[in-house]
Amino acid sequence: MPESSSPTADRSDYLRRVPLLQDLAEPDLRKLAGRTREEVFMAGTRIVEIGEPGECLYLILDGEVRVVFPGRDGDFELARLGSGDFFGEMALLNDQPRSATVSAVSPVRALVLDKSDFRQMIVESPKLALKLLQAMSQRVRYADEQMSGLSDKALRDHLTGLLNRRSFHERLFEESDRARRYGEHYSLILIDLDRFKSVNDMFGHDVGDAVLIWVGRMLTDHTRGADQPFRIGGEEFAVIAPGTGGTVALSVAQRLVDTLSEARPPLEIRLRVSVSAGYAACPDNGYQPEALYKVADQALLRAKQTGRGRVCGPED
Ligand code: GH3
Ligand code: MG
Ligand code: MG
Repeated sequence: MPESSSPTADRSDYLRRVPLLQDLAEPDLRKLAGRTREEVFMAGTRIVEIGEPGECLYLILDGEVRVVFPGRDGDFELARLGSGDFFGEMALLNDQPRSATVSAVSPVRALVLDKSDFRQMIVESPKLALKLLQAMSQRVRYADEQMSGLSDKALRDHLTGLLNRRSFHERLFEESDRARRYGEHYSLILIDLDRFKSVNDMFGHDVGDAVLIWVGRMLTDHTRGADQPFRIGGEEFAVIAPGTGGTVALSVAQRLVDTLSEARPPLEIRLRVSVSAGYAACPDNGYQPEALYKVADQALLRAKQTGRGRVCGPED
């Protein structure tokens, strides 16, 4: 029987074209080919399940798989892999359970290498070990980027792109902590759109959304670099201004209220936006973030009760 028609020879022909194995010496390739077996998975099969012990490495011949990390809000897709890619190496190297779930998107044909053979190959072929390390470090870097993108998403409000309520709380605690430890001060401004419900009622939710996006941009454009705007509720915004006391907070808040009422959102309809603001300063009005927030919120309420479109502070 001619050699090229034997499964091992076919496999080593294929393996030579796999990027991970390109530099491998011929005898190593043949050895590897001899140790693998071919398996076929139907679309939808979970080939590798997170948490299970890892017993083999998979090299994809044909088809596509998705690598997912199951989360509270559903699966997070880490990668899609196809012909020439490999998976399952991580659990084999560190003897930990599988770190992700891999399922077949389409019918998948793969070469499977058992754990002991895989380890043997690494010991015998430093080139393979090096290639594997390079491929893995690329994957780790990519996953890292994905994760930091994900955590950024968790901290931002998707409509305006401003930092969200969760970020606001974290920052408030950080600033209070800094104030207590190092004797620094900061102020907090709360801003609420006036009669915003009627904007939605009159012009529709999309116009309302466009107004919120515009307000977010205005707050970013009209605050110092050190001042941080947040969207902390539906039509509620906040600005944390480090290194400032009540007097500066009042002037910043007044400027924002004036600027927002004078400017016009870029909409086809003529619309003026009115906002009310309340502020509080740390440590003058307390160190506790919750207490400070309450003082600013009560000031905001007084601004609403006394006509809207204005600023109130702790003394008003
Ligand atoms: P006030 O001056 O007392 O603050 O009156 P208001 O109408 O602004 O306050 P209210 O709390 O009664 O209503 C807030 C409105 O904000 C109701 C809600 O429809 C709207 N809103 C909250 N979040 C969003 C959003 O993401 N998009 C849009 N378009 N509207 C929102
Ligand atoms: Mg409100
Ligand atoms: Mg409102």
